[in-house]
Amino acid sequence: MSRCELSLKSVGYRYPGGHRAVSGITLDLGPGILGLLGPNGAGKSTLMRMLATMARPSEGQITWNGVDLAADPNALRATLGYLPQDFGVYPALSAREFLGFLAAVKGLAGAKARERVEHCLSVVGLVDAADRRLGEYSGGMRQRVGIAQALLNDPALLIVDEPTVGLDPEERMRFRHLLTDLAGERLVILSTHIVSDVEASATSLAVMTKGELRFHGTPEQLIARAEGRVWEWTIATEQMAEVRKRFSLCGSLRRPEGIRVRVLADARPDVDAVPVAPELEDAYTLLTGSRPHEGDDALRATDAEASPRGAMTGG
Ligand code: ADP
Repeated sequence: MSRCELSLKSVGYRYPGGHRAVSGITLDLGPGILGLLGPNGAGKSTLMRMLATMARPSEGQITWNGVDLAADPNALRATLGYLPQDFGVYPALSAREFLGFLAAVKGLAGAKARERVEHCLSVVGLVDAADRRLGEYSGGMRQRVGIAQALLNDPALLIVDEPTVGLDPEERMRFRHLLTDLAGERLVILSTHIVSDVEASATSLAVMTKGELRFHGTPEQLIARAEGRVWEWTIATEQMAEVRKRFSLCGSLRRPEGIRVRVLADARPDVDAVPVAPELEDAYTLLTGSRPHEGDDALRATDAEASPRGAMTGG
C-alpha cells in the first residue's frame, strides 16, 4: 500500500451566493478510521466533497502525500474510493454487471477488472447475490455495492458519506463491521451524525458544528471531556417536563419506580443524582450542545435499539 498522508490547512468553502459551509479546518491524517461527526448541516458532506476532489476549497489547501490537490487532483483520484451520500445504482443491472461497468469507467479492463470485481464482491459479502438485479436489493445490500465500487481500485483513501442512513439496525451493525475490516493500511473517512456508527471502530474522531472543527483526537480524549459531568437519578414521571427544561438530557429509562434520567451538568443537579462514567454520546452532546439526532425521530428509535446503552433513549 502506498503512503497515505492527508493534510488540510485552513480549509474553507463558500457556496455560490455566499453561504460559508466550511471554515478554517486544519487536520493531519494518516492510516486508520476517522469518524467525522456532526449534526445535519455541520458541513461534513461539503468537506468530504473537497477531499474527494469533487469541489475545490474556496480557502486553504489540501495535500495528499505532499501534493496540492488544487494543482494536481489526479495525484489522489487514482487511489481514491468515494461513496457519496446520494449514491445511485442501475436497478436493472446485477451487482456483477454494475461493478463491471464501473470498473471499465475507472480504467480497469479484461482479466484484471474481472478479478477486482470478484474480489470486491467477496469483501462485501455479495458473491451469492451477485447475479440478482440491484432493484431487488435491500438498502443495506445497495450500500455494500456502494462500498464494493469504492474499493475497485484498492484505494489508499476511502471516503464514505453517511453510509448508514436508511439502514435497519442489523444492516448498520454489519456495515460497521465491514468498514472496520477495511481499515488496515488505508485511511477511511466515515461521516455520520450517529455516534454509535463510529463508537467501536474509529481510531480518531473529528467533530464539526456550523462548518468548524470543534474536536480532533481519540474517542477516549473526547470521552474524558465529559468526566464528572454526567449524572443519573430517578424522578417521578411528572417531573420529566421540568428536568427536560432545566437540564441537558442525554437519556431516560422508564423503571417501575419512576424515570431514570441521565443529565449533563457541571455540578450535582439534584440531591439524589450520582455521577456516572461518561460515554462517547454524552461527550458528543456536551461538545455540540445537541442530541446526536435531534429532530430525527425515525433514527432515534433505531439508534436506541442499536446503541450499547440499550433502552436509554433520547430526551
Ligand atoms: P452535513 O453533511 O454535515 O449535513 P453539508 O455539507 O451538507 O452538511 O451542508 C453544510 C451547509 O452548507 C448547510 O448549511 C447546507 O445548507 C449548506 N449547503 C449544502 N449544499 C449546498 C448547496 N449546494 N448550496 C448552498 N448551500 C449548501
